[in-house]
Amino acid sequence: MKILNKKNNQITFSADIDTGLANAIRRYIDQIPILAVDEVEISKNDSPLYDETIAHRIGLVPLKMDKTISEKSEEQLTLIAKNDGIIYSGELKGRVEPVYDKIPITILKKGQELEILATARVGKGSQHVKFSPGLMFYRNLIKVKIDKDCPKEIVNACPKELLKSEGGKIAIIEEEKCDMCEECLEFCKKAGKKAVELTPSGELAITVESFGQISEEEIFKRAIEVLKDDLKEVTKKVGK
Ligand code: SF4
Repeated sequence: MKILNKKNNQITFSADIDTGLANAIRRYIDQIPILAVDEVEISKNDSPLYDETIAHRIGLVPLKMDKTISEKSEEQLTLIAKNDGIIYSGELKGRVEPVYDKIPITILKKGQELEILATARVGKGSQHVKFSPGLMFYRNLIKVKIDKDCPKEIVNACPKELLKSEGGKIAIIEEEKCDMCEECLEFCKKAGKKAVELTPSGELAITVESFGQISEEEIFKRAIEVLKDDLKEVTKKVGK
């Protein structure tokens, strides 16, 4: 396993696992218990948006999950606003906080008011997307084999600029970025050469992106834990 890329809320790593298992882990991301606003009481709404629209927007605001949150947790948040302008998620106040402060909820004009009591509960992404902590996708890593008599003009054929001419030979840099677009093969075909070979390396490049409630590393780890727990249950039942 090797980290290929890590940036804000996203990690990409290589892993020697089969696509069936990777897909099971991907699907189990929506089985991780996550906190989100589940019920909203709106006592005042002078804004131009319907109550239902505001409730929907608040439901989709990711909330920070700390160690004290359990599957039975219930947290209250209030939003009381009478300022002129856009009302952002950061104005939701309670023991738990939104991950991002700048998600627009609605807009108020001078003299207008908004009063909301929201109840957050723990659920799973399979029930509703508001409980989803993130997403995962993967692709095969490719081995690029280049013959020594490969024409040097091939460097211009790769849209990702991964092919370089070094000491009269063509080499690939950052092979893990190759997405098998086959432009280099097309070039060779036109040039009447068989100078490049592309084969799956057997490893996957897995990308996990977090919506902020828990980290991307935690998403991958917890999806595996929940999957393992379910498999244990199945084994128990089958063994009976
Ligand atoms: S398959 Fe596409 S991305 Fe990969 S080396 Fe060839 S041209 Fe570049």
